[in-house]
Amino acid sequence: MSKTKSSESVKVVVRCRPLNRKEESNGPAGGIVQMDLRLGQVILRNPRASASEPQKTFTFDAVYDANSKQRDLYDESVRPLIDSVLAGFNGTIFAYGQTGTGKTYTMQGAWLDPEKRGVIPNAFDHIFTHISRSQSDKQYLVRASYLEIYLEEVRDLLDPNHGNARALELRENPESGVYVRDLTSCVCKSIKEIEEVMNVGNQARAVGATDMNEHSSRSHALFLITVECSQPGPDGRKHIRVGRLNLVDLAGSERQAKTGVQGERLKEAAKINLSLSALGNVISALADGRSSHVPYRDSKLTRLLQDSLGGNAKTVMVATLGPAPQHYDETLTTLRYANRAKNIQNQPRVNEDPKDALLREFQLEIARLRAQLNHRKWRSKQKKEQVDGEGWEGNGDEETEGEEEVEKEAEEYVKLQEQRLEREKQDIREDQFMLAEEKQRLLGEKERMMGDLRKEQEATEQLTAKYKAMESKLLVGGKNIIDHTNEQQKMLEMKRHEIAEQTRREREIQQQMLVQDDETVELKETFTSLQQEVEAKTKKLKKLYAKLQCIKAEIQDVNDEHVRSRQELEQTQNELTRELKFKYLIIENFIPPEEKNKIMNRLTFDPEEDQWKFQPLVPAESKSSQMKKRPSSAVGYKRPISQYARVAIAMGGHSRYRAENIMFLELDMTPPNTATLDRSTKSEWNQIHSLDNSPTKDRGVCKSRSWCQTPKSITSSSSNVSLAACHTATPMTAQ
Ligand code: ADP
Ligand code: MG
Repeated sequence: MSKTKSSESVKVVVRCRPLNRKEESNGPAGGIVQMDLRLGQVILRNPRASASEPQKTFTFDAVYDANSKQRDLYDESVRPLIDSVLAGFNGTIFAYGQTGTGKTYTMQGAWLDPEKRGVIPNAFDHIFTHISRSQSDKQYLVRASYLEIYLEEVRDLLDPNHGNARALELRENPESGVYVRDLTSCVCKSIKEIEEVMNVGNQARAVGATDMNEHSSRSHALFLITVECSQPGPDGRKHIRVGRLNLVDLAGSERQAKTGVQGERLKEAAKINLSLSALGNVISALADGRSSHVPYRDSKLTRLLQDSLGGNAKTVMVATLGPAPQHYDETLTTLRYANRAKNIQNQPRVNEDPKDALLREFQLEIARLRAQLNHRKWRSKQKKEQVDGEGWEGNGDEETEGEEEVEKEAEEYVKLQEQRLEREKQDIREDQFMLAEEKQRLLGEKERMMGDLRKEQEATEQLTAKYKAMESKLLVGGKNIIDHTNEQQKMLEMKRHEIAEQTRREREIQQQMLVQDDETVELKETFTSLQQEVEAKTKKLKKLYAKLQCIKAEIQDVNDEHVRSRQELEQTQNELTRELKFKYLIIENFIPPEEKNKIMNRLTFDPEEDQWKFQPLVPAESKSSQMKKRPSSAVGYKRPISQYARVAIAMGGHSRYRAENIMFLELDMTPPNTATLDRSTKSEWNQIHSLDNSPTKDRGVCKSRSWCQTPKSITSSSSNVSLAACHTATPMTAQ
């Protein structure tokens, strides 16, 4: 499956947005970020430091300042990546930075303004323009999915049921890497369709969140495009290449304030940054090069981006900065993060003929439908020829005649048959010698034949519609999908790419020269006098000393940051431990041990999901069979029913409780049995007992009727049966 296998590093570009109105009104301090576009350098000034302190300089693959245009960023840094995706590589672009620094602006931009369209709409344009301009022997299938990761849960943004949908699971497959199970994927045939997909997802994102800004700064959005391309190879067979593009708008990288939060809010705060801190750890582990373990499994985001970081993909990271002095710390952290990511090495390769290519399935299905359709039409043609009396002599070769001709003949056959049947019906109606009954029978027969013919025709039409719908999903190169094939425009675009490529190369050379300069300056110099040598070396010493100071300051900064993040982690850990202890306390004191054991026994570890899960109470395989079989006490009834209730129904009990498991317990209005407590002799007792039936006697002890005593309408024998049944057969019986 791999064709070209080489290693290349993650491309990192940095973009700084202009000062906004609020920041401008804050004071004349101006921005703290300076950029050298020619060299690809960012120079950061510490607003709290003295003027003598050296400024921090970082070098990247490209930098874009406040005046940069969306189009420049796309042409220089993104276009080559999309071209690779179209050639069958995996590609990822992710925007990283503090909230409000322009991640969404860079990825999406303002859709309606052509100047301000971001990476995603430009990529749509690029992909479909490329397809329309490619050769006609190429077939394409473009699919799009949209998901978000919020509080460590993957949610499908294209699911119509987004709000209530359950979180999706991640799965791994050796061929296509980590993927999301059951994720909606839409086949897109044009820019308009793919834009619609994006809109639907964006709306779902906005609807799901009460405060869009708050939500978007806490959730990661991933737009996935799969481009499959089939092209005949030198061996004459069709080969499929699959390029997958991930367009990622990450959550804001700023530290979430954790102080004073508890319970749910604490868990939330811990989860929000989990993905980002896991991303940081993955980048550090990869950039370090020495760590044998890369913690991809620590978060959903890092698992999804596993291939993009150190795997089979080409990756571009856009780090976004704000120029305001108050965000110095965050800006510095972003730059460090980005600087580290530069060292990650990926091994991109072309995905050729993967087993799960949907395009292959589509092609097979289309071929099957086409064969079916052709067969039908041939059958009609054959019948027509028989009707025509030509005596069809099939040679089995269905392809010898043109398809259009067959179709025409098939249509003609249907028309002729209809006319013939109509004619015959007319003849029967006009036949005066035929009996009325016979007429009726023959007419009915003709009517039936007509119905069959129509059904047949409808089936063919349906098949044709299905075939056409399937076929229309595949995009064929060389067709004008969009009005872009204008030659002049094409030339203009090519020139723009050339310029972008040239700028990129120039910058690379400049950067290389800068590095080499430092190394070779000493070699080139020859000294005429000792004095000159001392001067030159002093100068060099000063330069190196300044560099040393810079590095020392850098180490100090990194240490400080390390201590700070460690403190934060410790604080979170302490709070979580406290929370855990509290939960343990509740479990130990309020949950009976047998219940606890039952729950513990149901727990299993899912290595795929990397988390503990509850086993269902009823095993999955027996569940369906159990559900299918009705309990014997429910046959013929809405629900399981007790013997008592059945008898009550049979005896015509209270209509309100008919077919319910409710016992009919009427208040006992019969006079109670009475007895006087003080009994001296048996005769006296008998005497009083015989008087019991008389209601006029004074009452002593009142014996109430038991709940299980027979209601008036039911005989005592049936009530006895019911009682036995109540206790043994159905525990649902009201008691
Ligand atoms: P994020 O997604 O990082 O939170 P946004 O993309 O929403 O930030 O940007 C915040 C604001 O800054 C938006 O109003 C956006 O229009 C503006 N903005 C960001 N980057 C730029 C830029 N390069 N040029 C002009 N405006 C920008
Ligand atoms: Mg945003």
